[in-house]
Amino acid sequence: MDLQLHGRVAAVAAASKGLGKAVALAMLQEGARVAICSRDPARIQAAAEDLRAATNGEVFPIVADLTTVEGCQHFIRSTVDHYDKLDILVTNAGGPPSGPADSFDDSAWQAALALNLLSTVRMVSEALPYLKGSDQGRVIAITSISAKQPLNNLVLSNATRAGVIGYIKTLANELGHTGITFNAVLPGWTRTARVDELLQNLAKARGLTPEQVEAGITAAIPARRMGRPDEFAAVVTFLASGRASYLNGVALQIDGGLSQSLL
Ligand code: NAD
Repeated sequence: MDLQLHGRVAAVAAASKGLGKAVALAMLQEGARVAICSRDPARIQAAAEDLRAATNGEVFPIVADLTTVEGCQHFIRSTVDHYDKLDILVTNAGGPPSGPADSFDDSAWQAALALNLLSTVRMVSEALPYLKGSDQGRVIAITSISAKQPLNNLVLSNATRAGVIGYIKTLANELGHTGITFNAVLPGWTRTARVDELLQNLAKARGLTPEQVEAGITAAIPARRMGRPDEFAAVVTFLASGRASYLNGVALQIDGGLSQSLL
């Protein structure tokens, strides 16, 4: 199947590593031209070099802090200045801290909202005029399975990511007539370096090995394993493709069957 991504311009946020970088790689493999961002100049430059070496594709690295209005605007404006158009926006950022629901003060809530909800709103707002000029406009918001099924000790993620789904579904409803599609993807346990680090930390805290912690987690996943970043990226790339033109307003979990929600 030709995914009709050749020559398309994709802005993939927070892509120096992990899920964002995997999405950028998959899109480059399909012939898209890609802009990526993160906060650290050396890391985003290194990621761009890795991606070019793996695909021979066009990658434009941008330094931007997505917790600020200016950072979100800078990411989108620099992408358009460089490529002269924008077809696809993949919103993404780091994860908020974990902790019990009653342990966070107002500034922690403000920070989580900026990182995981407002960054999405700000990138989309800046990108909309350009996406409206594309005949294959796509917005794909990376959130978390926590938006469908709250995770223990992760209230900041549970609350802010549900907001992203509400925002994306509203856009799908109000702007579906423009031809742009708006969808959200909800990763479950996906084996990035961040998850490796988390397994190490949980193992230390519980006096177990990382393998034992992982076995406890995967026992609850119908697939009995964690996902790979390339499996996640393949789904996002399909949603960005010309073939997904009638998929709009979906909140799609990519979790090996972990979420037990009926909808
Ligand atoms: P990661 O830590 O490997 O990568 C996060 C990326 O975000 C990095 O490139 C980092 O530089 C960038 N980043 C962080 N804060 C930023 C900021 N303020 N401005 C710009 N860039 C910033 O994480 P990941 O595993 O790839 O996860 C990506 C997102 O998906 C996170 O929000 C995470 O919580 C969520 N998620 C991941 C999983 C999983 O299993 N990997 C599961 C559910 C949800």
